[in-house]
Amino acid sequence: MKKVVLLGSTGSIGTSAVKVVQDLSDRLELVGLGAGCNIGLLSEQIRTLKPLAASIQSPEDARKLRSEFGSEARIYSGEEGLIELATMPEADIVLVSIVGTAGLKPTLAAIRAGKDIALASKEILVVAGEIVMNLARECGVNVLTVDSEHSAIFQCLEGHKPESVRRLILTASGGPFRNTPKEEFPLITLERALQHPSWVMGRKITLDSATLFNKGLEMIEARWLFDMGMDKVSVVVHPQSIIHSMVEFVDGSILAQMSTPDMCLPIQYALTWPERIPNDRVQTRFSSIGTLTFEDADEERFPSLRLARQAGQEGGTLPAVLNAANEVAVQAFIEGQIRFDQIAALVEKVMQAHSRIDHPCLEALLEADGWARQSAQSISATLGNRPITV
Ligand code: NDP
Repeated sequence: MKKVVLLGSTGSIGTSAVKVVQDLSDRLELVGLGAGCNIGLLSEQIRTLKPLAASIQSPEDARKLRSEFGSEARIYSGEEGLIELATMPEADIVLVSIVGTAGLKPTLAAIRAGKDIALASKEILVVAGEIVMNLARECGVNVLTVDSEHSAIFQCLEGHKPESVRRLILTASGGPFRNTPKEEFPLITLERALQHPSWVMGRKITLDSATLFNKGLEMIEARWLFDMGMDKVSVVVHPQSIIHSMVEFVDGSILAQMSTPDMCLPIQYALTWPERIPNDRVQTRFSSIGTLTFEDADEERFPSLRLARQAGQEGGTLPAVLNAANEVAVQAFIEGQIRFDQIAALVEKVMQAHSRIDHPCLEALLEADGWARQSAQSISATLGNRPITV
């Protein structure tokens, strides 16, 4: 039995992870569940999954859960609660699927406690990839990716030497605006931006997929997960999302990993690695897929890719600044303060204003994150409050 702590159990990845654990109940057991605000779903999960411990963001909600469950489960709250779960002596692996960077300190605590990590929260590696991966190496723990693209690359790389790799090829669906002319970008509404063509995901990642910032964050994530220079990380648009990513080797040979898009697959692989366990959940029928197509990504319409490459190449505190500015910009777009096309413009302005620090410690990263948030907020105010509807 592998014992799993799930941070972000009430989200899109979290609920898929619960399905995987239920599918493989003879091999996987949930011992800890961490959530943000969704007390209703967390309470239902505690009732049905019977973890040893759970945590919720607010102390008030934690009190309610304690009175509901008594001694059936230990209940914690806040960041300390997530750290309690991440370091539980009973846990073998911690799946981190909290949106943003709220899972960063719990992840570092889990690594220090010797737990393997299954990582969905790409923001953690974007912000602190160097620190997380160095600590994991020091502590001898595995950081297994739950991102479908990185899981694909991980699978393609297995058994190959790093020097045999020419480049990693991340596939991108292209999002809902793959064919939208640049002139129409200022008119894009929140409702349209939330309609992803191939994946059902949380709100932030869905909007990041529409701007292609998601792919930009994944480029930086790949750089750290696989210890490759940014020059070896490329992107190709593949609208069908059947090939989840590829690796090209120095002899010109390319390996791809494919399936019907379903996050249960990379979640299962991360939780059961190095084994492959039978599961019929994901079925792929080539005759119903028909054609697989590929296009270059258009960096003119999607500057996020250029910005992420720059942040990944320059490194230091710049990726943390890109990530934080993007979070503020996405929120400002959700609230109708800025237009869709202003998201990337806002991130670029904040990046330009930043004085980079190389090889930062955690405190310097968190400081850069805070500075970028403030800076993005004040610049967004100058961009004008002009929500435009179609
Ligand atoms: P969701 O928005 O669906 O879920 C986010 C989860 O994080 C929820 O469980 C939420 O709790 C929890 N949460 C948020 N803030 C806190 C906090 N301060 N403390 C504790 N828990 C918190 O996001 P997704 O599942 O879509 O994405 C999660 C991560 O996985 C993101 O980093 C994303 O980039 C990455 N990812 C997602 C993919 C997908 O297909 N969805 C694919 C690959 C990567 P609550 O709802 O209770 O407030």
